[in-house]
Amino acid sequence: MSENVIRKKDSLEYHEKPIPGKIEVVPTKKTKTQRDLSLAYSPGVADPCLEIAKNKEDVYKYTAKGNLVGVISNGTAVLGLGDIGPEASKPVMEGKGVLFKIFAGIDVFDIEIDAKDPKKFIEAVKTMEPTFGGINLEDIKAPDCFEIEQTLKKEMNIPVMHDDQHGTAIISGAALINAAEIIGKDLKDLKVVVSGAGASAVSCINIFFELGVERKNAIVCDSRGVIRKDREDLSGKKLDLATATDVHTLEEALVGADVFLGLSRGNVMTPAMLLTMAKDPIVFALANPTPEIAYDLAMSTRDDVMMATGRSDHPNQVNNVLGFPYIFRGALDVRATEINEPMKLACVRAIAELAKEPVPETVTQAYNVDRLVFGREYFIPKPLDTRLLTTVAPAVAKAAMETGVAKAVIDDMEAYKEELIK
Ligand code: NAP
Ligand code: MG
Repeated sequence: MSENVIRKKDSLEYHEKPIPGKIEVVPTKKTKTQRDLSLAYSPGVADPCLEIAKNKEDVYKYTAKGNLVGVISNGTAVLGLGDIGPEASKPVMEGKGVLFKIFAGIDVFDIEIDAKDPKKFIEAVKTMEPTFGGINLEDIKAPDCFEIEQTLKKEMNIPVMHDDQHGTAIISGAALINAAEIIGKDLKDLKVVVSGAGASAVSCINIFFELGVERKNAIVCDSRGVIRKDREDLSGKKLDLATATDVHTLEEALVGADVFLGLSRGNVMTPAMLLTMAKDPIVFALANPTPEIAYDLAMSTRDDVMMATGRSDHPNQVNNVLGFPYIFRGALDVRATEINEPMKLACVRAIAELAKEPVPETVTQAYNVDRLVFGREYFIPKPLDTRLLTTVAPAVAKAAMETGVAKAVIDDMEAYKEELIK
């Protein structure tokens, strides 16, 4: 059996042994002697307390706040498993903590809150601002996630990002720029069809618009078909995306389309639909674990498909881990008060650019392949590419400084990059 096949028994054992769970808290200072302990706790600890009481910003100087992210969920949309509750979401949140740490050196407290009501959830998260340098919201169902993130962004003075919305959008945005470049199409001319209008799809299409896709060229479908202006069941984000075009089904919408973005359900696209798309169709079939159209099926249907999926067993995986560790790294390092659109776009462009750089052997070795060359089979960087840290985090930090949301300044970007890999 291949090492990539994950069996239930192995997964449960991994989580249970040798100690339950995946993360622990480790002191960063010496704790050997009585004196060490008197410094770590009473009486020595009173001095930093008093300094912070005089000047709140000193909390960044004397505590772990500046490198600590809260990964916070209420367990209402966990992976593709649905509303399984806060306790059952904890393995995922711990896992996210692991990724933050290994890819960007960021510490995480995973917080699972028993609050389905968005107002209650918002109140709880707001009260945690003193603890964290940033907040990664995770696995909260749509449309609640929109209200929750918008309110917290407005009311909190630290970066807040719902990764299921924007992480996916950022990686898909980078993939779109590169895919379009490879086939020689302009973003402003692309006819885009989206299947799905949930947490991730809404943010994706909005970032596509920011990158140059025109609203008039986009058609979005949900489980009831095309989101049209004459539908009476629409509100909020869906209403904003409604089209005046007289098409009713995904099948009709796809005729002549340049791009299919799927963030909905497995197998909603048939080979017949794919055949009606324009030349060199860009197909991002991201439903997990079963894509909207299987990779092998799409490839055998026509040989000009530019394909990405959410899966690691095919080329061009749209994997959020390319984004969130480095977005937060950059944001924390300039003590950004928010993660704004220019910071997200800087991240998109940095990821897109990195895919065009020659790939070092350390990366090809990690994936056991001979070469990775920018093109149809490789237009998104690989998650184990360590250059992501030194490319994306500085780009995000720079965008934060340029847009006036940075409370700290990085003067020497080259020195900062050196620091990052230490
Ligand atoms: P979500 O908020 O639940 O949204 C799902 C959307 O799909 C809803 O708008 C739903 O319609 C729509 N939908 C359901 N059945 C459909 C159908 N037959 N045709 C068209 N639309 C349909 O979920 P999400 O968090 O956005 O995630 C959606 C999918 O994308 C999941 O499979 C998830 O695993 C995957 N995903 C992948 C990545 C990645 O690859 N990096 C990242 C994020 C999400 P209604 O609004 O009418 O219910
Ligand atoms: Mg998630």
